[in-house]
Amino acid sequence: MKNRKPVASFAPIEVRRFILPLTLTTIFLMVGIILDSTLVDPRNITLIVYGVAWIFITLIYDFLIAKSTVFHGSFSWFYVITIIIGLGLLNYILPPHLNEIFYLMVIFSTISMATVSGRYQAYLTLIGILAISLPNHAQNFENIKNILDTFAPFVISIVSLEAILRIKDTTQQHIHRLETINRVSSQIMLSLDTEQTMSLLTTAIQDALEADTYFIGIVKDNEIHLDLFYDDGEYFNGTRAPLDGTLSGWVIKNQKELFLHDLRKDITLDGVKNFVIGKEKTSLSWMGVPLKSVNVTGIIALGSYKPNAFDRADMELFSNLAQHVTLALSNTFQHAQVEEQARLDSLTGVYNHGYFLKRLAEQADESSNTGIPLSLIMMDIDYFKQYNDTFGHLVGDQILNTLCAAIKQHIKQTDAVGRWGGEEFIISLPGASGAQAMQVAQRIGQTMSGLRVEDMEQRTVPVPTVSQGIAVFPDEANEIYRLIDLADQRLYIAKERGRNQIEPKSDHWEKIQTEQKT
Ligand code: GH3
Ligand code: MG
Ligand code: MG
Repeated sequence: MKNRKPVASFAPIEVRRFILPLTLTTIFLMVGIILDSTLVDPRNITLIVYGVAWIFITLIYDFLIAKSTVFHGSFSWFYVITIIIGLGLLNYILPPHLNEIFYLMVIFSTISMATVSGRYQAYLTLIGILAISLPNHAQNFENIKNILDTFAPFVISIVSLEAILRIKDTTQQHIHRLETINRVSSQIMLSLDTEQTMSLLTTAIQDALEADTYFIGIVKDNEIHLDLFYDDGEYFNGTRAPLDGTLSGWVIKNQKELFLHDLRKDITLDGVKNFVIGKEKTSLSWMGVPLKSVNVTGIIALGSYKPNAFDRADMELFSNLAQHVTLALSNTFQHAQVEEQARLDSLTGVYNHGYFLKRLAEQADESSNTGIPLSLIMMDIDYFKQYNDTFGHLVGDQILNTLCAAIKQHIKQTDAVGRWGGEEFIISLPGASGAQAMQVAQRIGQTMSGLRVEDMEQRTVPVPTVSQGIAVFPDEANEIYRLIDLADQRLYIAKERGRNQIEPKSDHWEKIQTEQKT
């Protein structure tokens, strides 16, 4: 884990609950000391006072722990000093038959110190007590039993406090990871764009999981597109991986989580060969979770170059994160779809009037910047009112769709087509000269005339012709509304001249071209 930060800490009330058994046992032991000293003859007044005082101190500290956020640092140092002096002295005033009480007190105090304040203070306490009590034991060091007796409580204390501190660290790490995942998950759910989702996911993985590599892959056209791909400090976003023969492909096809501890061991998964993407290093530990919703199919995976880098808890955390990512991507996708639909004409699926204008404005801007011309075609179906009257509105609608399909067949991805009005369509061709637009217009007309359309009763009906007007930006009009107006005027000329034709005719553009050359 590169950036795992165990910052989460326990609330004072939790700490107080952890050490409640120690507090109660301490009080119980002190009551024992007091009773023992009261009952012996002569009474041991020092011990009675010590016992009462220690009960009092224990209760005060128990109360102070609850307020430890207020007292903070200085509190733990008072605690250390009191315990060192208190237990150091106890060793001198305790009669030999109560020696075990001293041992237990040393163990309890260091454990509670470790729990409340931490490792540093716990060891300091131990060393302090040892330093003060050692002179009292030194004279008994002639046999091994006495030496063991003296050091046993310190050894037990060290072992216990280490165990406790390690559990505490692990718990805090888990808390921190859960906090991270929770925070990021709720942010991811609000995100409506893919890039933001990916960046949040990156934060979550880097903060909560020890991964050398991770990626998110979405299935498109029978391939896995890695929209986010991090490998050993570098991003390889946009890489593609095959569905067949890969671990990822296996996860997606089987819709099962895959958790591999060591990839050097034989993988017996149907049809999977080893497939290295990103850097030439291969991950040895690997976790993959399928992403599946109505509109997203993919995988989220992470790996480490070390074997056995992840445990069950990591897998669960990761799986949880994956569910949020799936929902977020699904939301993003749906949002994009709704936005796209708001741009399209519902009958024909081409851009609607408003969105076409927006696109044309963008294309014109780009054309102004690059100096590359943009051509516009305005077209209208000839005698369409009559056509509807003769063959019915439904057949008319079918013709509108057929015309749009014919247009799309002849334009490029970067071109735009919109429904300008009822049976009037508009096409923008960035980068196309007037002569090139002319060719596109001719091809659309030819395609239409070559089509065979049937009515509801499967009778072949004639296909109407179209009239078209062309204008070029910025040579003929340097503003989009003027450009549209010019194309519209030319469309009107084509209609006037008898329909089923293009205005200006091809010789107009050829003339312009030769003029430009000379
Ligand atoms: P022109 O050659 O001069 O263009 O003659 P036209 O009859 O096509 O004249 P105009 O362009 O004014 O006619 C528009 C007709 O288009 C009227 C209407 O019947 C038809 N129309 C408009 N929108 C739709 C539609 O969504 N579906 C169908 N089936 N017909 C439509
Ligand atoms: Mg018409
Ligand atoms: Mg019209």
